[in-house]
Amino acid sequence: MDNLKTTEATIDKNSSGLTPSHVWKNCLTKIKENVTLMTYNTWFLPIRPVDIKDSTLKVQLPSQFFWEWIDEHYSSLIHKVLGEIIGPGAKLAYVISDDAASIDESFSADSEKSRAVSRVIKVEQKKANGFDSHLNPRYRFDNFIKGEGNELARAAAGAISDNPGGTSFNPFFVYGGVGLGKTHLIQAIGNSILENFADKKVIYLSSDSFTVEFVESIQSNKINEFSSFYRSMDVLIIDDIQFLIGKEKTQDLFFHIFNTLHQSRKQIILSSDKAPKDLKGLDERLISRFQWGLQADIQPPAFETRIAILKKKTEDYGMTISPEIIEYIAYHITSNIRELEGCLIKLLANASLNSKEITLDLAKKIVREVATERKSNLTVSIDDITKVVCGHLSVPENKVREKTRKKEVVLARQICMYLSSKLTKSSLKTIGLHFGGRDHSTVIHACSTIEQALSSDIIVQELVGNLKSKIELSSS
Ligand code: ADP
Ligand code: MG
Repeated sequence: MDNLKTTEATIDKNSSGLTPSHVWKNCLTKIKENVTLMTYNTWFLPIRPVDIKDSTLKVQLPSQFFWEWIDEHYSSLIHKVLGEIIGPGAKLAYVISDDAASIDESFSADSEKSRAVSRVIKVEQKKANGFDSHLNPRYRFDNFIKGEGNELARAAAGAISDNPGGTSFNPFFVYGGVGLGKTHLIQAIGNSILENFADKKVIYLSSDSFTVEFVESIQSNKINEFSSFYRSMDVLIIDDIQFLIGKEKTQDLFFHIFNTLHQSRKQIILSSDKAPKDLKGLDERLISRFQWGLQADIQPPAFETRIAILKKKTEDYGMTISPEIIEYIAYHITSNIRELEGCLIKLLANASLNSKEITLDLAKKIVREVATERKSNLTVSIDDITKVVCGHLSVPENKVREKTRKKEVVLARQICMYLSSKLTKSSLKTIGLHFGGRDHSTVIHACSTIEQALSSDIIVQELVGNLKSKIELSSS
């Protein structure tokens, strides 16, 4: 028995003398301390260690879905733990298979999955070379479903990745609502360029990260380094450019980087929630440049596309779901692909956690949950509330911000304060500041006045109820 153990250990030992199972077992002990038991059982226990080579632990996962979920939610935990156990430079590679014998094959076979694996490793290597593109390897063209809503954007994205900087689609400006695939598409361009042109410098980041880096570079006196780093890119991909609104200094620097890159025919790719012309508050010079190349919008997917997306994702996640359930989800979740995915993930988590079958009843419950989450995720601002309340009560907005003590203005102001305290995360102090710099005790007084009226006055109940739904609608 002892002999056998030694042989096994020699076979799968790497140069540092660690066996994959030993390493993974130590990782599990640490992971267990950091997650709930439910998470541990659902997402970590099914992972099997396979190999360890040059500080890279290779593990086997039951499905692509597992990888995506873990990568999205626990990658920093895993990397921290791996670093503690294997040492600096530790990495995780994965294979997807439910058959251990096929693992080596799946690395060399030209299957979809092995390609996914080699991509992960390729991108990891990029990082090892000292340059991190910040691209998520899971965003690819081959798992981006085409539909009427994204046809133009998808076609242009393909052309750009074949010939970055060389088409007239420069800049390429993708816009549309949340969860419709903007980030997926623009990162897929980046990943595809890296695959086709290994020497191109591609960088992806959100306009928020760009701003944060810019501010840090000012603080550390490194603006020139910051600026020349971005000017040296072949492909600059900036997500959610609308967040540059109100940040004049960052806009100014971005304007210059944009010009340098554009003049030297480097590819610029941008995304936003609105078309350039609707980005109110953004520097006009930027708006006009954003219109130089191609603007392509992404519209919500039609029913058939939603079905196609759900089918593809259930396959990727290794799930089996009846067509009836797929149709149910596609019928009820209409305007957001992230929510379609969210439903599948919840279904899978629920089913695997409770060893339950995926039934229509379970699907119904989960669709309801997703809808409820959507409501609670609404981000309403004090200004949105003020606009709706004042519009409804025909009180000019500036009046509620002034000292006026007219009866109807006082009522509007108090309702605004009350709803702001209920529907936003703002502190009472902030709310007070929005309404003519009043202090927090005024806000408390307003809230209790409205609460009292709500408990006794049916007209106020109706009014506040109507306003609430109007506000929710206006921000959805
Ligand atoms: P956005 O950036 O527009 O808010 P994302 O790109 O983050 O949206 O997309 C939300 C989720 O939906 C992502 O997980 C993405 O992979 C998925 N997704 C979006 N569009 C598609 C599509 N056409 N095919 C497959 N998956 C998609
Ligand atoms: Mg996005």
